[in-house]
Amino acid sequence: MTLDIPKVPLLTAKRATELYGKPDGDPHGAWAKANIVYCGGSGKAEKPAMPGVPERLWFAVHRKAEPKMRAAFAAAKLACPTYVIRSAGCWVYRHQQHDPTRPLSIHSWGAAVDVDASTNGLRSRTIAPYSAAWLKEYPQGLPYEWVKGFLSVGGMDWGGSWRGTCDPMHTSVYEP
Ligand SMILES: [Zn+2]
Repeated sequence: MTLDIPKVPLLTAKRATELYGKPDGDPHGAWAKANIVYCGGSGKAEKPAMPGVPERLWFAVHRKAEPKMRAAFAAAKLACPTYVIRSAGCWVYRHQQHDPTRPLSIHSWGAAVDVDASTNGLRSRTIAPYSAAWLKEYPQGLPYEWVKGFLSVGGMDWGGSWRGTCDPMHTSVYEP
């Protein structure tokens, strides 16, 4: 089984800055105030929770990426209503793989989301999505129908289809 999705290029730091501005790492700074919107928080946040994401979580996302991300979560829920999301992390200012020698992660712009990180972990090799090897690696991973639904909105760069690295928890909004 292969995932039939429109491929988009990798969302680079350069393109992220063009699209979303230059984050400064200060969670209370001017960039964050202007660009980050909170969802969920048991109804205390500015916007409602993302569809399917636990209501109690505070989900922080770039304002410009928020509608596409919301549409993706809604499409995933519709495509796979039985899948229960336990965690979803979006905005956090950090370097790739928490390594300061690496470039900034797209999470720094609030334009990437990690869904259920504990069961969809990063691997440092290519694994064909939903191949036998994949299913062995991710027995409790995101279901095929869920991922297909999530990506159906288009313009999403999914870590599960990368070459040399496999990061199925991760999706970036390449085209907001
Ligand atoms: Zn990620």
